[in-house]
Amino acid sequence: MLIFKKVADLQAFISQKKANGASIGFIPTMGALHSGHVSLVEKALEEEQLTVVSIFVNPTQFNDPEDLKKYPRPFSKDAQKLIKAGTSVLFHPDVEEVYPPGLETQVNLDFGRLTRVMEGNFRPGHFEGMANVVSRLLDIVRPDSLFMGQKDFQQLTIVKDMIRQQGRRIRLVACPIIREKNGLARSSRNERLSEEAREKASIINKTLEWTSENHLQTPINELQREALEKMEVGPFKPEYFSIVDGYTLEEVQDPQKHETIVACTAVWVEDVRLIDNRILKGKEILRGKIQENLQSVES
Ligand code: AMP
Repeated sequence: MLIFKKVADLQAFISQKKANGASIGFIPTMGALHSGHVSLVEKALEEEQLTVVSIFVNPTQFNDPEDLKKYPRPFSKDAQKLIKAGTSVLFHPDVEEVYPPGLETQVNLDFGRLTRVMEGNFRPGHFEGMANVVSRLLDIVRPDSLFMGQKDFQQLTIVKDMIRQQGRRIRLVACPIIREKNGLARSSRNERLSEEAREKASIINKTLEWTSENHLQTPINELQREALEKMEVGPFKPEYFSIVDGYTLEEVQDPQKHETIVACTAVWVEDVRLIDNRILKGKEILRGKIQENLQSVES
């Protein structure tokens, strides 16, 4: 695996590979890698000749400076995991490389409701920062395919919209959520939980499963209320539980009227904020739509 810290060096390498016909799969991360991240690398390896992973803790997407400070940065362990997974290139830039003084790196797009609901309500500025860094990294790497996790469902929806608005010729591949044995979605934040809380956090996935089993026979507002109640136990404090349209993130009232429906939640436990989601309806259509958007870009 080659490690690049400078944009110019990375670009020279990628240009040469592209000239020789290689297709590039890109996986942006903030490091502290776990099997969820590795699953994206594996997916990229199945589909592309060259995988480029970035590790960059993007300061502009943290609305809480303490969270940025506490974000783990176990670089050598991460590099080992990427080598083991078969990654071709690791891009590990400094902040000045990503945001050089004088370069306009601001993305001025209007995502409408997509950035305002759910996470957008509780993490002001987060998605604007995320869109900026993903756009900048896409400009640097110029991949054929971008691999992202369904774990961050709202992020995925916004990136999909950004690709559409910017008219980029990039295939966005959404990868399924990798979970711990008890069902808790893998996250670098899980390491900050006590053993007991980590075990009990299975309640989040259990509640999402329960929602999936009951969404056809229970009115949506009742479903939401019960789901919140189920997760309001011991140290757990749910922040929201939303059942939304998978394309527009509109709150669902009548499930019959939507092609795709997703339940999304954020829960606090021991000062750690966990997010998770489950597609209740239209999993295949979601993937189809991503491709459809890209076809409209190409035609
Ligand atoms: P992060 O390093 O948290 O910014 O995540 C980098 C990428 O890994 C994003 O596309 C995430 O959605 C994805 N990811 C994080 N956790 C998981 C997981 N448990 N399963 C699948 N993908 C994940």
